Amino acid sequence: MTTAMSLKSFALSLGAEVLENEPMSKHTTFKIGGPADIFITPRDEQSMLSLCSFCGGEKIPLFVIGNGSNLLVSDKGIRGAVIKSGNFGAVTVEGETITAPAGAHLKAVCEAARENGLTGLEFAYGIPGTVGGAVFMNAGAYGGEMKDVVNSTRHFGGGIAGGFSAEELCFGYRKSAYTGTNLAITSVKFALKHGDKAAIAEKMRDLLDRRRTKQPLDLPSAGSVFKRPVGYYAGTLIENCGLKGERVGGAMVSTKHAGFIVNMGGATCNDVLELVEKIKKEVLKQTGVTLECEIKMFGET
Ligand SMILES: Cc1cc2nc3c(=O)[nH]c(=O)nc-3n(C[C@H](O)[C@H](O)[C@H](O)COP(=O)(O)OP(=O)(O)OC[C@H]3O[C@@H](n4cnc5c(N)ncnc54)[C@H](O)[C@@H]3O)c2cc1C
Repeated sequence: MTTAMSLKSFALSLGAEVLENEPMSKHTTFKIGGPADIFITPRDEQSMLSLCSFCGGEKIPLFVIGNGSNLLVSDKGIRGAVIKSGNFGAVTVEGETITAPAGAHLKAVCEAARENGLTGLEFAYGIPGTVGGAVFMNAGAYGGEMKDVVNSTRHFGGGIAGGFSAEELCFGYRKSAYTGTNLAITSVKFALKHGDKAAIAEKMRDLLDRRRTKQPLDLPSAGSVFKRPVGYYAGTLIENCGLKGERVGGAMVSTKHAGFIVNMGGATCNDVLELVEKIKKEVLKQTGVTLECEIKMFGET
C-alpha cells in the first residue's frame, strides 16, 4: 500500500496521468479485464524510464502495454502497475529509415511510409497495435512480419538504457528477444526501400479491404486467439470442427472468422478461457492438432 502511494506521488511529480483501480476493460480491444492497482500514462520518454526504474527499485510488479490489442486481462485485474507506452515524439523519416516511438500506432508509421514512397510495411496496415507491441510480438500478416522491416530498437530495463540490432532481436513466430523479459521498448527503427507510391497505397487499401471482409472488426476482440499450427490454419480447423458461433457467456467464436473470439457484450475473462479450453479440446479430439494461444494473458488468476 505504501509503495503504491509513493509510486502515485512519484508519477504525479513527473506530470504523468495516474488512475487507481482502473478497469483494464477500458484499455483492451477485447473490452475485458478487472482493475489495475495503478495505471500510469507517462508524459514523455524520460518519465517512462524513471517510472520503470522506480518500480524496479521498489519491487512493484510492472506491466508495459501498448494498445492492448493482444491482451486478455483477468477479471480480478492486475496487482501492480500498468504503464501505457506513450506516443512520445514524432515519427521521423530519413531516406529509407523510419524512426518511431514505441507508443506510436502502427497505422501512423504505415502512413508515413506510404506518404514517403517507402515499401515494406504494407502488410502491417490494419494491425491495431503500437510499434512496441508489434515488435514484442513480431506481428505479421499477409506474408510479412516485423522481422522483415525492423532495423533496431531502443529499450530500458534494470536501470539501464540499451537496444537490440535486428539480429539480436531473435525474431520468431509471434515472439522476439523481448518475450519473457521486463524490458520496456522505447523506440524502433525500420529499414524500408524506395518504391512506387501508388502501388504502396493500393496494396494497403487492398489488405485493409481483405481484413474488413474476413474479420469481425465490428466486435471487440484481441485478433487471432491461437497461433497458426504447422501445416494448418487455426480458423479453418475450428470452423471444420463445427465451432463457429459456439458460446460461453458473452464470449463467442466469431461466425465471420472462427480464429477470433468476440465479446458479444459483458464477456468475462473466465468466459473466454472456458471457451478457449472447449475449442482446444474439440479440435484435439477431432483433428489431433494441439492449439496454442497467441493472445497474452495478464493479471491475477
Ligand atoms: C482486430 C484485430 C486484428 C489483429 N490482426 C493481427 C494481425 O494481422 N497480425 C498480428 O500479428 N496481430 C494481430 N492482432 C493482434 C495485435 O494487434 C498485435 O499483436 C499487436 O502487435 C499488439 O500491439 P499492442 O500495442 O496492442 O500490444 P499490447 O496488446 O498492448 O501488448 C502485447 C504484448 O507486447 C508487450 N508490449 C507492448 N508495448 C510494449 C513496450 N513498449 N515495451 C515492451 N513490451 C511491450 C506487452 O507487455 C504484451 O506482452 C490483431 C488484433 C485485433 C484486435
